[in-house]
Amino acid sequence: MRAAVVLFTRNLRVHDHPALVQAVSEAHRVAPLFVLDDGILGTRFASPNRVAFLHESLRDLDAALRERGGRLVVRSGDVVTEAVRLAREVGAEGIFLSADVSGYAQAREARLARACEDERLGLHVLPGATVVPPGDVVPGGGDHFRVFTPYWRQWAQAERRAFLDPPARIELPDGLGPETTSFGVLATSNTFPELPRGGELAARERVRSWARSGLAAYGDRHDDLPGDATSRLSPYLHFGCLSPLELDVKLQGRPGVGTFLRQLCWRDFYHQLLSANPRITGEDYRSKGDEWVDDAEALERWKEGLTGYPIVDAGMRQLAREGWMHNRARLLTASFLVKDLGIDWRLGAQHFFALLVDGDVANNVGNWQWVAGTGTDTRPNRMFNPISQAKRFDPEGAYVRRYVPQLDGISGAAVHEPWKLGPLERQLLDYPEPIVDHAEAAAAFLR
Ligand code: FAD
Repeated sequence: MRAAVVLFTRNLRVHDHPALVQAVSEAHRVAPLFVLDDGILGTRFASPNRVAFLHESLRDLDAALRERGGRLVVRSGDVVTEAVRLAREVGAEGIFLSADVSGYAQAREARLARACEDERLGLHVLPGATVVPPGDVVPGGGDHFRVFTPYWRQWAQAERRAFLDPPARIELPDGLGPETTSFGVLATSNTFPELPRGGELAARERVRSWARSGLAAYGDRHDDLPGDATSRLSPYLHFGCLSPLELDVKLQGRPGVGTFLRQLCWRDFYHQLLSANPRITGEDYRSKGDEWVDDAEALERWKEGLTGYPIVDAGMRQLAREGWMHNRARLLTASFLVKDLGIDWRLGAQHFFALLVDGDVANNVGNWQWVAGTGTDTRPNRMFNPISQAKRFDPEGAYVRRYVPQLDGISGAAVHEPWKLGPLERQLLDYPEPIVDHAEAAAAFLR
């Protein structure tokens, strides 16, 4: 092949990138392309936190390509139109792309396939977004797994493709023209100060330091809310700055890795679920005929971290401050919205998606539906008790005091139940009374 286009979407790396590696091995010259997609960037799906992270990731990818003799070509508009246009400009015979799972990504790939057929271009779709590609591990007689544990058993045994080193050299085709569009348009000031740095370089540094200092204790500490002992790799995995397969292959055999790989498997599980059911972004995976409460004020208080349940409020304020939240807090805040307040999981998922720097359609929707009992949880009526959970996972109250400074005068676990303080002490607190009584909400939910 004379020349090819590699279309980058959310696989912003050079290590273990099957589409890039195959394009370089099959074509003499390769044009790496990223399209600033009007279908995402001009919409509410473009969260400022993720746009900032994307911006840094693209700069980093461009630098990695330049080190190898290439560069990132940046265009803006419709992805399919721009990919085909660039292919024509440089005389490419094929377009290489990583497979992805959302309805949007599947429709984009189908449009690209039609356009390539019209233009007599080859379309090459390669894996890379997950450890095991969706559809590679399926139950007997079905196209995807509905329950996690059997998926996990087969996933753990599934054969892995080989890890790929980055290409040593990338030859750009002639006819690329001057650099007209730059990703500088993504620069935004409207983000949170505590966001992680985007890009493959930062991702690899984070893996190295976390594998040294955090992995061995992950099994014991991943639910420790104040300890903040998880990897914080989620935004890098979402944007593909890091290959999940590389983590799986390279961390094998390390002390403590079992529980961590199980979490990566949850990620693959939700990707195969969404791939087979793109409609679940808006529809219940398994409807129980729930009737949701329409309470705009309660929803607002939940978003603001003013429910009067300190552990819930701490989680929501962590999200508002960092664009990220600990997994245990995500579970508790989501359960509180859906099961204590009776509010539709879709409204919670939208709020998370607007703020999370790791906001990921498969993981966000999959987890929200699991918590709501409309998804894959085999115990759909499970309800988290915000007080006993708080005492268990934040036993000294340090997580709550970190994010709810109004309560930092209350020491120890008493911070989880400020309503038990004397009337005078309560009056002095600038903190709301509980929005609902959990015991009553639990009884109502079960009814
Ligand atoms: P670690 O504990 O270090 O785990 C390593 C990796 O495994 C994560 O980076 C992530 O890619 C994957 N992982 C871990 N837990 C889960 C899980 N429960 N489901 C799927 N993958 C998992 N994760 C997102 O990446 N994006 C989201 O939008 C998102 N929304 C969520 C919404 C709710 C209501 C809940 C309960 C969970 C959500 N999660 C989401 C899953 C999980 O909370 C985050 O992946 C995790 O907290 C990220 O932190 P970490 O990288 O330190 O995780």
